[in-house]
Amino acid sequence: MSPDVIVVGAGAIGTAIAYQLAKAGVKVMVFERAQVGGGATGASAGMIQINPDRNTPSSVSALEAESARLFPALATELLDRTGMDIGYRAAPLLHLALRDDEEPQLRAHRAWQVEHGVAVAWVDRSAALDLEPMLNPDIHGALYYPDNRQLMPRDLARALARAAVDLGAVLREGAAIDRLLTDGDRVIGVAIGDEAVQAGDVVIANGAWASAWSGALHAPIPVRPVRGQMVALRSTATALRNVVSSLEGYILAKPDGSTYVGTTVEEAGYDARPTAAGIAGLLATVPRLTPRLADATFVSAWAGLRPATSDGLPLLGRLPGWRGVTIAAGHFRAGILLAPITGEVIADLLLRRGPRLHLDAFDPARFLVRAA
Ligand SMILES: Cc1cc2nc3c(=O)[nH]c(=O)nc-3n(C[C@H](O)[C@H](O)[C@H](O)COP(=O)(O)OP(=O)(O)OC[C@H]3O[C@@H](n4cnc5c(N)ncnc54)[C@H](O)[C@@H]3O)c2cc1C
Repeated sequence: MSPDVIVVGAGAIGTAIAYQLAKAGVKVMVFERAQVGGGATGASAGMIQINPDRNTPSSVSALEAESARLFPALATELLDRTGMDIGYRAAPLLHLALRDDEEPQLRAHRAWQVEHGVAVAWVDRSAALDLEPMLNPDIHGALYYPDNRQLMPRDLARALARAAVDLGAVLREGAAIDRLLTDGDRVIGVAIGDEAVQAGDVVIANGAWASAWSGALHAPIPVRPVRGQMVALRSTATALRNVVSSLEGYILAKPDGSTYVGTTVEEAGYDARPTAAGIAGLLATVPRLTPRLADATFVSAWAGLRPATSDGLPLLGRLPGWRGVTIAAGHFRAGILLAPITGEVIADLLLRRGPRLHLDAFDPARFLVRAA
């Protein structure tokens, strides 16, 4: 039987959309060319942090705040429905000023974040060390974000997929979509080799690969891959109580007992392999930020491709010039945080429910306007 909606890609975004649609009684089919959460999602640190690395307010801040608000209920809901714990935990963050001259910039950063409702305080060196005894005692001070959270990102995608399937969705892993099927100005389905599957709506949610449909549909989908590398360590020292970050990178203890060190931000095309220079750079930050972790042992390294857009904002909405096709991609460094709200707003759109947030800033048509 034909599904009502086809979702292309089973990362955090595609699975969140599939779950919300399945919950609303829509017949959904999800196509994933590898495994659930095997793209950027599985490579991610899983921090639930509003305004990561942003020096100025952005129109995505409100979306992030709303998504963060949705997480506690979603984590409980997924546990109840699937028995899967997504590792959603408190993860207060200390963003360090390693030198005195970093303080003014961090204080400015704090000022606009407070205006946007983020809980963040400036703490001096001794207060920072009280909060996190593992810190390098030579730091100058830190911004402290007490309300930040984290989770295990691949488990989030798996739990969303499982919950969607339990509600009747069909998940096809190892199924790469080759083409979108069209009829006039309408996208009517997808093709895998000789197999065609038709649906009333297709949702493009294949992350850094979303631009693949741009040529055939003659529509601008300016999503490109931006590589991020990560290292996992294991330590016998006491676990970090906080996420520790700085301009050089971040270190966090994960619910599975490992410690992640991230990350790079690199234009490396579709090459998702970690490199010697990338790993070396990450490992060098460990003794600088948390000297007591210098004896931690190396477990693994990996990289993922973040879906970045040319204006830094995600694409959420109908693809211009076409009926039957919606895009949800380009979440760059915040796709785990933004998964719950993306699932809800895309389901609202497809079900013609009133929008709960203004999505104009994320309208995929904005690139068409610029091109004109
Ligand atoms: C190192 C690193 C750290 C990060 N840390 C954080 C963080 O702490 N917090 C946060 O919020 N975000 C973080 N991010 C960003 C976050 O991971 C991404 O924004 C998010 O995972 C994007 O999700 P997605 O579902 O759009 O893409 P993906 O997870 O990449 O999923 C897209 C899926 O589509 C599939 N696909 C591609 N083409 C096809 C096709 N033709 N047919 C079928 N399937 C296809 C892929 O196999 C893939 O599984 C991080 C990213 C990286 C790399």
